[in-house]
Amino acid sequence: MGCALITHADCLDHLTPDGHPEQVARLDHVLHALQGLDLLRLAAPRCEDRDILRVHPQAYLDRLIAALPGEGLIPLDEDTWFSPRSLEAARRAVGGAVRAVDAVLAGEAKTAFCATRPPGHHAEAETPMGFCLFGNAAIAAKHALDHHGLERVAVVDFDVHHGNGTQALLWDEPRALVITSQQYPLWPGTGAADETGGHHNVLNLPLPPGSGGAEMRAAYAAQAFPRLDAFRPDLVILSAGFDAHADDPLAELNWREEDFAWLTRELCRIAQGSAQGRVVSVLEGGYDLRALADSARVHVQELIEAGR
Ligand SMILES: [Zn+2]
Repeated sequence: MGCALITHADCLDHLTPDGHPEQVARLDHVLHALQGLDLLRLAAPRCEDRDILRVHPQAYLDRLIAALPGEGLIPLDEDTWFSPRSLEAARRAVGGAVRAVDAVLAGEAKTAFCATRPPGHHAEAETPMGFCLFGNAAIAAKHALDHHGLERVAVVDFDVHHGNGTQALLWDEPRALVITSQQYPLWPGTGAADETGGHHNVLNLPLPPGSGGAEMRAAYAAQAFPRLDAFRPDLVILSAGFDAHADDPLAELNWREEDFAWLTRELCRIAQGSAQGRVVSVLEGGYDLRALADSARVHVQELIEAGR
């Protein structure tokens, strides 16, 4: 069945100030790294308001629409910027995640990777945060549960920063299991092991600064994989951040490309057990352009292998 690559040129139109880590070049580098791979290439549609409203209130969407600058850039907080076409990019990022769920559930592809930006896992219900505007992964999970009627969806977030937004948006959703690993302590400060969700449906894996692939593999093998096996998800959604890489400038974990490949392979194996192999991966962070590109490539190569 194969692996789908879902992207859209509008995602290049979300602009940030010079020197900002979440830059247009990130997506260019990822797409360049994926050239030549055997992928079903799909356009990310512009999402509907109802997709956004699965996890965000109308007042939040209205606030963003009202804040949209006619020209130039404005800060929504100290990290998160807004440019004239940012909402179009964000709508493609949401639409891509939703399209990816539709594609794997319709059997167009077995696995899918969304090369989109802005990222989403820090956005909370009424708060843009950490370069993120809408909770792309959480929206994809809700779409799978509420629109497609799946019974159980797992979201696994291996970005180096805590997926506080995804955790908050799915905190009270017993049909979702959220597993998030992060350097701890690190911005945004949340993600301790005692944050376990409203229905015991959240598993945090805090990893110490300076730790590497061995510590990550041990934590996932001891805690995450047994939880996933027991949960038996119908679909696995990945928040794929690549900023745990040793070369990333924003954090101090020391993962390498082979660690991202290993984790992807293991998560696809678990999806094969209960979810017919269906995995949707959504790009989150990753700020060293070369490490991002190389890590995204090995990640997608594993998704292609699992999609066969
Ligand atoms: Zn991150």
